[in-house]
Amino acid sequence: MTTPAPTPAEPPVAPPGALSPRTLAVSAGRPARVPGAALNPPVVLSSTFVSQGTPAAGEHLYGRIGTPAWEPFELALAALERTDHEAAGLPVTGPPATVFASGMAAIDAALALVPVGGRVVVPRHAYQVTLVLLREQAERGVLRVDQVDVVDTAAVVAALRGHDGDGSDGDGPAAMLWLESPTNPMLEVADVPALVAAAHEVGALVVVDSTFATPLVQRPLALGADVVVHSVTKYLAGHSDVVLGATLADDPALHARLVAHRTTHGAIAGPFEVWLALRGLRTLALRVERAQATAGELARRLAAHAHVVEVRYPGLPDDSGHARAAAQMDGFGAILGLRPVGGVPGADALVAAVALWVPATSLGGVESTLERRRRFPTESPTVPEDLVRLSVGIEDVEDLWADLDAALSAAALSAAARSTGAREGDTR
Ligand SMILES: *Cc1c(COP(=O)(O)O)cnc(C)c1O
Repeated sequence: MTTPAPTPAEPPVAPPGALSPRTLAVSAGRPARVPGAALNPPVVLSSTFVSQGTPAAGEHLYGRIGTPAWEPFELALAALERTDHEAAGLPVTGPPATVFASGMAAIDAALALVPVGGRVVVPRHAYQVTLVLLREQAERGVLRVDQVDVVDTAAVVAALRGHDGDGSDGDGPAAMLWLESPTNPMLEVADVPALVAAAHEVGALVVVDSTFATPLVQRPLALGADVVVHSVTKYLAGHSDVVLGATLADDPALHARLVAHRTTHGAIAGPFEVWLALRGLRTLALRVERAQATAGELARRLAAHAHVVEVRYPGLPDDSGHARAAAQMDGFGAILGLRPVGGVPGADALVAAVALWVPATSLGGVESTLERRRRFPTESPTVPEDLVRLSVGIEDVEDLWADLDAALSAAALSAAARSTGAREGDTR
């Protein structure tokens, strides 16, 4: 009797679910292990692919429909978002991810899941361009919008049910609950599991913009959400060098609609940008862990600073969102809200006085940035005028603190000088 010739062994690749997300950020989305092959996926520059007749399943046809330039990044992101999900019996490749040209393109695709005339319940504080897009679509009659205080679970539930106060259901149930948690830029924390349950009770889809948290800190699909949206521009790419977005959905029908929206509306990602995003994603755990630890330390010190009126950070034990964040997140992120003394001039003076921190919009890069959010006329009017949003990067914590501390003192001095000047002006 002869023993069968051994078939060439597949390389020992552990199933993704068995690996830590920190590892998956490094290992997922690699090319097959073939001797002599490249370790990293290539940048694929091809608008079209060899094809004739009826295409086979998964066969590439055309660069707007699907390209190998996107797939390694989509696989890696899916692996990160699915790690708490094995219990749900999901396939090992995880919830399908769809990369888009920007976070806003991903948000636009997710909002297109709302049937025409459907009602969207959305936090009053959320990424301002999301609110602008919702307002624009409401004005065109595409959908209806109800803004809520997302911290107030009872108010959100009432808005989802559509009660109009007199016991009748004048508005009808909502079609979608749009969540950001923590919110941009107020750092409010929603009770995601409770709100998901209430939304599903009335048949509403739940979308979570999880940009602030990243899949390492919060996995909304595991909390029951239907769709997750990321601005890949921020932490996932992480180096302030690309603009990209992504959606993830467990339900194959929802995923197919998101892909179809990308194909039809054409907001597709460029191959170089996606390659850079995957390169950035490889260090996600190191970056997020460092930034988050530094943010916690800075928040503690700022809360005790003489020139600070208020610090918003869910990681602070007395922050109103702390208990919820601790229950549903693996950490508290690295975005802080800061109100320095001196009102708007104080905030502007702080932003002008920093030397290491960069005055700039956006967030989630390796470099620490800050800005006063109400400098934008489209920012929500209920965001305090003097709120400065800080995105903590990966620089040394003592260097960041020294720069911030000096800038706070300089800003307080200039605020004091202004008020003295104003008093002197009064006596004239
Ligand atoms: C930046 C941002 C977006 C928009 O993403 P772009 O990549 O700039 O289009 C959406 N949501 C949040 C929370 C963001 O911070």
